[in-house]
Amino acid sequence: MRSAFALALTAVLFAMNAPSQNPAELAELWEREHVVKKPASILRVKDAIDEVEALRKLGIRVNEVGRSVADRPIFQAEWGRGPLRVFMWSQMHGDEPTATPALFDMLTILQNNRDKEWVKQIEEKMTLRVVPMLNPDGAELFIRRNLQGIDINRDALDLKTPEGRVLKALRDSWQPEIGFNLHNQNYLTTVGATDKQAAISFLVVFGDEAKTLTPGHERNMRLVAAMNQALNQFIPGHIGRYGDEWTPTAFGDNFSAWGTPTILIETGGLHGRDEFYLAKMNFVAYITALRALADGSEARYSPSTYEFIPRNSSRRIFYFIFRGATVIERGQPVVSKPADIAVNVERRRAGLATPGFVRSVGDLGSVTGLEEFDVSGYNVIGRFNLIKSGTFADLLFYKKGRQVNWTSPELETEFPPDAIFSLGRWLKGGEDVPKIKR
Ligand SMILES: [Zn+2]
Repeated sequence: MRSAFALALTAVLFAMNAPSQNPAELAELWEREHVVKKPASILRVKDAIDEVEALRKLGIRVNEVGRSVADRPIFQAEWGRGPLRVFMWSQMHGDEPTATPALFDMLTILQNNRDKEWVKQIEEKMTLRVVPMLNPDGAELFIRRNLQGIDINRDALDLKTPEGRVLKALRDSWQPEIGFNLHNQNYLTTVGATDKQAAISFLVVFGDEAKTLTPGHERNMRLVAAMNQALNQFIPGHIGRYGDEWTPTAFGDNFSAWGTPTILIETGGLHGRDEFYLAKMNFVAYITALRALADGSEARYSPSTYEFIPRNSSRRIFYFIFRGATVIERGQPVVSKPADIAVNVERRRAGLATPGFVRSVGDLGSVTGLEEFDVSGYNVIGRFNLIKSGTFADLLFYKKGRQVNWTSPELETEFPPDAIFSLGRWLKGGEDVPKIKR
């Protein structure tokens, strides 16, 4: 009798302590119920307004809390009725969009699952205030800065931007206990000493240059440990720690200084996965953190786990590498030299042409590309310019053995290339160029 009771009690206690939704279940929940159906990078202000209307129809309170330089609305949604004040904002840099749909999805899914115990727990423990798309003008144009040309994330003290003033006022009037500052980092940011892309990077933002550890920062370290553990099930090796140098004019640093210890989440790249996948990773991270706060499980994590997340690194990988090219110098009759050519592309909205630039030429045996091609069977010449670092990467490929007059002023029409690489993709003949498996 007694042991059966003990067993039952253990089962109950286990059920109370066990995560009510594991990360895989959260990802499935997102798959079934996410509402933003466009890639983050093509979302416009009109789309955000539509999502705001949809939230209101679900009964979520959303207020217009300010206007951008071009008079576009800035919204804040509120969800939950608990005492813990949690503030989240996205897209203060207009061309850093991934978190915006993830926030709309999060609010919708929380609201639609209020009958679930774990959601009730979040709802009763905390109040969320969420500002998706703080920089609507930048989002509309897909540019980093606001329409005054100011980086809002360097305006925390000057407050010259209306967007920055809105953010400051929302913080000061509500004094949130935790902030989530949501950005995108470079697609080619890597993790530690590896050539793996940092798909997600975290930073517990300190409030002073001396990195004074407060209970709030320690709690945030435990929350990052929880998010890291959850995301490790999906993207092991692709999680980094963002650089923590003190930036006296940045909002994250100042939120922390003003009394709202802030967690920075930077979404990077994950080659071969689309934007939705990274929005899903954001969703899983947010819910994991909120749940860990709500059920108290964050206390089980060690702040030192955070320190073991490898730091971000850069300049370790390129987007494309063409290996073993014989580079022809335009205008020179025969002079040529074998080399690897590295090309990176600029970040653009999904579907738009992405200008590619040559970033390195030479022996690149010690670095890797997200995509690599063996072009040792080709002579390569720049379409408009010499192939050297910094030039436009429009590349013409001619199979070796073809008779080509490299000095021809009508090269491309007189001698049609076997393959053309332009604007970050193969325009012609790419299927014949051997791909190197990484
Ligand atoms: Zn940013």
